[in-house]
Amino acid sequence: MSSVRNAEIIAIGSELLTPLRSDTNSLHITRRLNEVGIEVRRKTVVGDALDDLTDAVAGAMARADLVITMGGLGPTEDDRTREAVGRATGRSFVRSEEWVDSMKDRFARAGRSLGENNLRQADILEGAELLTNPKGTAPGQWLPGRCSILMLPGPPRELKPLFDGEGMARIAPLAAGTGRVLTRILRITGMTESHADSLVGPIYRDLVNPSVTILSSPGSIELHLRAVGEGVRTAEELIAGVEAQFREKLGERVYGTDDESLETVVARMLLAAKQTIATAESCTGGLLAGRLTEIPGSSNYFLRGFVCYTNESKVDELGVPAELIAAHGAVSADVAGSMGAGARRIAAADLGVSITGIAGPTGGSAEKPVGLVYISVADRAGVVTTENRFPGERGVVRFQATQRALDMIRMRLMEGSG
Ligand code: AMP
Ligand code: MG
Repeated sequence: MSSVRNAEIIAIGSELLTPLRSDTNSLHITRRLNEVGIEVRRKTVVGDALDDLTDAVAGAMARADLVITMGGLGPTEDDRTREAVGRATGRSFVRSEEWVDSMKDRFARAGRSLGENNLRQADILEGAELLTNPKGTAPGQWLPGRCSILMLPGPPRELKPLFDGEGMARIAPLAAGTGRVLTRILRITGMTESHADSLVGPIYRDLVNPSVTILSSPGSIELHLRAVGEGVRTAEELIAGVEAQFREKLGERVYGTDDESLETVVARMLLAAKQTIATAESCTGGLLAGRLTEIPGSSNYFLRGFVCYTNESKVDELGVPAELIAAHGAVSADVAGSMGAGARRIAAADLGVSITGIAGPTGGSAEKPVGLVYISVADRAGVVTTENRFPGERGVVRFQATQRALDMIRMRLMEGSG
């Protein structure tokens, strides 16, 4: 048995090669392995064909210190993982009578009798240890060696407890890493990916540890930093150094870290500043209110949300002057400002936030194209309004409008109380 620095994970099941299912188990496993300093070097997704499976296992064994298979341990004809690992390692099987008995008990309690195909689940690789599966009839198997092999059942509710308990109890003592593998995400908004990259690219271009990846989605950019502890420098230290340089370049454009959402950050700031908020939405139809109230405890800051689609509703519910709409149109800076101020006044909130725009795909004109959105934040001191042009289809425009509105609230709260 040798020490383990790196691992490969093999997700097994023909359903994972369809558009209907994807491998999620490996995310959980990777997180746990990283915590003890084991790096995942490769993942394979393979169907249930025995030759493909055997290839995948043999290939991974030739490269890695640890191979983890997931799935294909059940009783049915398409469950061929045991056989594939047997072939790849040149080992035969021993039937565990103990596990046969435990399956018999389990079936008897359920009022069923044990079929011949179920017995295959008790076939343990020669030299391997059976890992009890408290949630199912397929046990895991652990075969330590130059390349150790861990076989896990596929269903996530069986895999997770088995891996976290019996699996990690065997793997962790073998971990040879000098520190853990750590991932840190910096979340950025209000900036394009190319702009962000032009600022931070020179810092990370030649970096190996931490390695850096930039990912972009509408209204948000993520910088992923991944470090492996080396020598006396822990992964935390390696990340902290680069993170500080990134933050210096990006400043307040960084709104959060790891899995923090923009609404979570804004909610925390509203609570800390003891500020209340009301929303007035046209083209986003309540999406902003939805995001602001997704956070537990939102009743401490969220007072009221207006969804005012028609001109009449803007006049009746928010007190927007009809003449203002007639003069500038419902999608205008003036109407946005009046909506925000109206929501603030009627709800007696500290902040009133409004969104009015053209989400598309229809309704645009040369003067007011699809994607044109006005967003206002009103407070005691007055109203701040932005004019935005969001690219993309309807859903994307609407999401980006809420993202921008949340960011404007964030900026407003960073300035201090008004
Ligand atoms: P199996 O152990 O092959 O019988 O797996 C049974 C079920 O577990 C499949 O139908 C999937 O729903 C689920 N499953 C298998 N592998 C994975 C995986 N890598 N990630 C998420 N779910 C999985
Ligand atoms: Mg399967």
